[in-house]
Amino acid sequence: MSYAVKEAFLTLQGEGMQAGSRAVFLRFAGCNLWSGREQDRATAQCNFCDTDFVGTDGPGGGKFAGAGQLAAHVEGLWGDESDLRLAVITGGEPMLQLDKALIDALHDRGFRVAVESNGTIAAVPGIDWLCISPKAGTDVVQRSGNELKLVWPQAGIDPIDLEGWAFDHFLVQPMDCADVQASYVAATALAMERPKWRLTLQAHKVVGLR
Ligand code: SF4
Repeated sequence: MSYAVKEAFLTLQGEGMQAGSRAVFLRFAGCNLWSGREQDRATAQCNFCDTDFVGTDGPGGGKFAGAGQLAAHVEGLWGDESDLRLAVITGGEPMLQLDKALIDALHDRGFRVAVESNGTIAAVPGIDWLCISPKAGTDVVQRSGNELKLVWPQAGIDPIDLEGWAFDHFLVQPMDCADVQASYVAATALAMERPKWRLTLQAHKVVGLR
């Protein structure tokens, strides 16, 4: 199988329970909830996206002919012989392209594989850390994993409805939008009112990383 990658780069994971960890981010091109074109945003199933996932023209992006080639690219971005290797597979929607062959190829190179998905496509087996971020109005089929990350506020989602899903951690993250202060207030209020939810912030933005 070939893979279309928007960009790939070494950074620190900024969100969730693994925030602060060095990681290679691998951003697949394409999403099943939005075309990525601004003219389609208003009618998209997901319309608050802050990510460019269109095409393969970003730093470290491109088309890769096979799992071994892409895993070697990720290893090259890690850049040294250190262990605790972490690859964060994101998008776009990574489940459109991620397969067992790539997970195996990354494991062979010593990487733990973390995935950030919208949950509308069932996760493939073998993922080491699965983060699901549900979007209002979509049919989330992947209701188990390591962390559920709710970008908040979102009209059309009741957090109480999600609390029975089978995740180890429930995280609320302020939506990065025009009124981010209102998002901070709403996310903080949820974490204060319902202790199952833990506030997570986008730490990479605070320190100036992508
Ligand atoms: S599901 Fe994720 S990648 Fe797709 S449009 Fe929404 S925020 Fe962006």
